[in-house]
Amino acid sequence: MSEVLNYDENCLFCKIIAGEIPSEKIYEDRLCYAFRDINPQAPTHILVVPKAHIKSVAEISSKNEALVGHIFTVVAKIARREGLENGYRVVTNCGPDAGQTVPHLHFHILGGAKMAEKMV
Ligand code: 5GP
Ligand code: ZN
Repeated sequence: MSEVLNYDENCLFCKIIAGEIPSEKIYEDRLCYAFRDINPQAPTHILVVPKAHIKSVAEISSKNEALVGHIFTVVAKIARREGLENGYRVVTNCGPDAGQTVPHLHFHILGGAKMAEKMV
């Protein structure tokens, strides 16, 4: 059970962080929470989310940029733990054109196989 800053009662990931919806926890600290994606797009597919309800990259500012830096440190730590030494992709979808389905900032860690599609 974790405290969520700016808890949004309509937000799926706020509920997951709060433990109201079960998830397969990978990592947790004071600022962020990581869990396995329910519909994996790669052999390893983990979501890393801030505990604070921030809707997307569009809400990142000088006020919360340190938190985002911390999340990337955690991403690298998780990737090492998961044995993704051959590489991985970190993706964040922002808004409808990018296909964001859950409006709580999250970073996908995808790895464990050679990626077929190359967006960039
Ligand atoms: P988005 O499409 O917003 O970038 O990513 C949302 C992700 O959340 C999707 O990959 C989807 O599979 C995952 N997801 C949606 N609902 C749940 C859930 O209840 N539990 C978990 N673990 N993942 C979820
Ligand atoms: Zn939320």
